[in-house]
Amino acid sequence: MAAKGSEPIETRLFINGEWRESSSKKTFDVVYPYTKEVVAHVHEADVQDVDDAVAAAHAAFPAWRDLGVDGRGALLRKVADLFLEHNDDLARLETLCTGRPISQYIDAKLSAESWRYFADGAWAVQGTASSNTPGILSMTVKEPYGVAALIIPWNFPLMMFSMKMAAALAAGNTVVLKSSEKAPLTSIFAAKLIEKAGFPPGVVNIIAGYGNPTGAALASHMTVRCISFTGSSLTGQKIQAAAAKSNMKHVHMELGGKSPAVIFEDADLEAAAAATQFSIRFNSGQVCIANSRIYVQESIAEKFMHVFKAQFSQFQLGDPLDPATVQGPQIDVLQYKRIQEYLGIGAKDGSLTVGGDANEGFFIKPTIFENLPDDSRVMREEIFGPVVAINTFKTEEEAIRKANDTEFGLYASVFTRDLDRAVRLSRALEAGTVGVNCTSPTNAKDAAFGGYKMSGTGREGLLYSIDNFVQTKSILIKAAGQGLGFF
Ligand code: NAD
Repeated sequence: MAAKGSEPIETRLFINGEWRESSSKKTFDVVYPYTKEVVAHVHEADVQDVDDAVAAAHAAFPAWRDLGVDGRGALLRKVADLFLEHNDDLARLETLCTGRPISQYIDAKLSAESWRYFADGAWAVQGTASSNTPGILSMTVKEPYGVAALIIPWNFPLMMFSMKMAAALAAGNTVVLKSSEKAPLTSIFAAKLIEKAGFPPGVVNIIAGYGNPTGAALASHMTVRCISFTGSSLTGQKIQAAAAKSNMKHVHMELGGKSPAVIFEDADLEAAAAATQFSIRFNSGQVCIANSRIYVQESIAEKFMHVFKAQFSQFQLGDPLDPATVQGPQIDVLQYKRIQEYLGIGAKDGSLTVGGDANEGFFIKPTIFENLPDDSRVMREEIFGPVVAINTFKTEEEAIRKANDTEFGLYASVFTRDLDRAVRLSRALEAGTVGVNCTSPTNAKDAAFGGYKMSGTGREGLLYSIDNFVQTKSILIKAAGQGLGFF
């Protein structure tokens, strides 16, 4: 599929085990952000296609549910094997859509781990039993919702695809996944692998399209019973509203961030600089947990800035398909222009000390702003680019107040060698994950992931992922001769 330098390919929708054109026959283009070549014409699902996909998933649900954990798990494990076998195809396609350097690609491997983990993990989805009420045996069991809608963003498409889909399927739901209009190709390729693995028709349906009408039609669909979404907080609000207005479908939301890193004077400065600069530069800053705000204790600010800037300025902009490239372009012109606007705001509100617009293609040089006021939009809004604001603090209380001064709460990190302080900060920081002396997430098999405040509701990772796709039923069995009372 899709080779750079060759004719664009045409991709279709995967509905009920068939490769269909969209009912409107409309397509949209996927562009390689480095050369701006069109690499694919993608069939765009409209409301009729969404209806068809949901109907197929609905029809396939009872048999899939009744296949049991072992039967479903066997198919999930085949997908894991196929992802590993096709690692290079997936890496290339993801790079062509997103512009993320291929040197950073570990996503097929991590995705395969998700498919395996949930194949086994579904066994742990168990209820409870109680005989505490005389004459009544009470059981609590977990059941799938039915049709699950999955809506994913463009920044790590295959990992989001896998994390959600493997958990939803393992729990016994059938799915309709809408990929991002900016990065649909690995989802389509993965659909081919899922087809090859031998899933029954209708269990997995993969459609491509924009937020409107495709995503919105899924969010408000009356047959969809749960939705798992990863994307911006603004879109999350729209989906939550559509879910509430339609049929009160269960929603799980992984949303945006404005993550702080707090660096104390007793920290290992080299290590803190290395971790924080990596966090904001990886995938050109297009990472939900990127530490876009850094607070450094005043007493070491000068020294930290010296070390940080030295590391931050070493970057190799280039063709993301070249394994030597460290930083690729932003994903598209919209994202590029959006970041440029923030560069203008930051330059007006504070001092730009490094970086700015690279002025070639969609590249943005890693950028540092210092001493921005707390109310600057650069301090408050998610930029999703390699742009970091660095401010100072004097006391621990001030650091906590500043770090928490945000509507987001996805990730926060603290750098210190003082264990007491690390314990205090890890509790005081308002975020779904706190990294002590680290800025990265861990393996999904090792920790839950999700947001406080406007960064989300619910969690992914561990078996929390499966919780998003099961509902709880109580079954009460009454022995003969018991009374008719309520309790
Ligand atoms: P986005 O919100 O623009 O789009 C995400 C998905 O939602 C896309 O598939 C889009 O087509 C769809 N969509 C848009 N409007 C919709 C609507 N009205 N109804 C239904 N679907 C709709 O986000 P994006 O630009 O693709 O991704 C970047 C955002 O994702 C950032 O905010 C980032 O922080 C966040 N993100 C969060 C996590 C996390 O785990 N918390 C992980 C990755 C990305």
